[in-house]
Amino acid sequence: GAQSPPPQEGSMAVVLRVRPPSPRRRAAPPVLHVLNQNVVLLSPEEPRGTASPARSSGRRHKNLKFVFDHVFDEGATQEEVFQHTTLPLLDTLLAGYNCSVFAYGASGVGKTHTMLGSKNSPGIVHLATVELYKRLEDTKDKRCEVLVSYQQVYKERVYDLLEPQGPLNVWEQPGKGAVAQGLSFHQPTSAEQLLDMLAKGNKNRVQRHTRANAVSSRSHAILQIQVKQWDLAGDLRVAKLNFIDLAGSERAWDTLGRGEGLLEGTSINRSLLALRSVVCALAGAKGEQSHVPFRNSKLTRLLKDSLGGSCRSTMIAAVNPAAPAGRDTYSTLRFASRARSI
Ligand code: ADP
Ligand code: MG
Repeated sequence: GAQSPPPQEGSMAVVLRVRPPSPRRRAAPPVLHVLNQNVVLLSPEEPRGTASPARSSGRRHKNLKFVFDHVFDEGATQEEVFQHTTLPLLDTLLAGYNCSVFAYGASGVGKTHTMLGSKNSPGIVHLATVELYKRLEDTKDKRCEVLVSYQQVYKERVYDLLEPQGPLNVWEQPGKGAVAQGLSFHQPTSAEQLLDMLAKGNKNRVQRHTRANAVSSRSHAILQIQVKQWDLAGDLRVAKLNFIDLAGSERAWDTLGRGEGLLEGTSINRSLLALRSVVCALAGAKGEQSHVPFRNSKLTRLLKDSLGGSCRSTMIAAVNPAAPAGRDTYSTLRFASRARSI
């Protein structure tokens, strides 16, 4: 097909997905209102009898507007989210540029639902996989190969989800970013095979039952789909598409601005904070050579060659519109709208 131009230097699109209110919280009033396809309004929480005034912040009595590349309200389907976020990246991937899709937000807001979904409502990974293989099968003038890996970063340790073993060492490769040593790569030859591997990996993600929830909400899962294409002259084009289901971002605001030491040993996630710094540094850089702190965590080291530069990224920030989540919602909206200025 036609050649896509290289992505705009370090471009990141940021969309917002607002989940439907969960049934047990139906009584809680929404604090977040979708104004249109690009804008949401966060209204102040009603002062409740027991709320301590000491915990309030300056924003408390203001309405705040946040602007995104797209806003999906609670009625949005998985297919719509796919069409607007991931489908355009497939062109970029096949043109030879690395791409990433991040799901960001507090626990329970719909990150995994958006990425993986369920049998009846498959998420963007499933929809992208089916579309990718359809396109590869339609490609007549190239020989194509797909290589897949699936890793988890948990407490700054990297695990292989497809062939579980102890934590893997992370190795710097000169000029190429870092890789997990011994990570398994697989060559699914159909969408079904790839999706079977994914399902197997997901079982490994939540293996230890008692702590299943804690692990999946505090770990990052990175599914990497690498596409190799050889043209008739034998020239090779390689690019990766990463799907990153991030750890829950709740309480991250508690630690911002505090010493590094406090982060250690707490539930606060070093990789998540590092990713936030990298994204903000890239957003502020706009072509300047400012320092981007990739080296500060396992996640950012592993993703170095898929962020910034001639890579194309999309962040799907997810939020719960109901009042009890107000502070996490504010934190997500503020970060995600800053990330957008890349
Ligand atoms: P997270 O991964 O962000 O912690 P989940 O994706 O696991 O959150 O979502 C928590 C629950 O809410 C799941 O049962 C999920 O199916 C449901 N859910 C989340 N978002 C939606 C949505 N947009 N539509 C329907 N159900 C959703
Ligand atoms: Mg999840």
